[in-house]
Amino acid sequence: MSDCLFCRIVSGEVPGSVVYHDEQVTAFRDIRPQAPTHILIVPNVHLTSTEEVRPEHISLMGRLIQLASELARQEGIAASGYRLVLNTGPDAGQSVGHIHLHLLGGRRFGWPPG
Ligand code: AMP
Repeated sequence: MSDCLFCRIVSGEVPGSVVYHDEQVTAFRDIRPQAPTHILIVPNVHLTSTEEVRPEHISLMGRLIQLASELARQEGIAASGYRLVLNTGPDAGQSVGHIHLHLLGGRRFGWPPG
């Protein structure tokens, strides 16, 4: 989708701080980091939110989580721990309409979230 910011980062049309890219998924640093490590992991295909996930996307969604774990190791936060977040819709504060898994780490997070 040409009007989707994250599709444009995936395609390289908009510059991003890309840390990983393959034919399925792309990971780039969040422009407003909320933690020392804050990476967004997105499917290359445009899916607006988890509400669009269908059975054919199950392995793709698993890949997002598996890549998060790989990147956490690379970032040196696997042992200390990290948080994975998928915001869906207005009550969760989703601000970009393209599924993105937040990988956050390098500091302690509270629970429950505010
Ligand atoms: P969410 O609120 O879950 O939809 O998260 C959207 C995230 O995208 C926020 O953390 C933003 O800081 C981040 N973001 C917005 N624009 C960009 C961009 N051009 N490059 C990287 N991250 C971005």
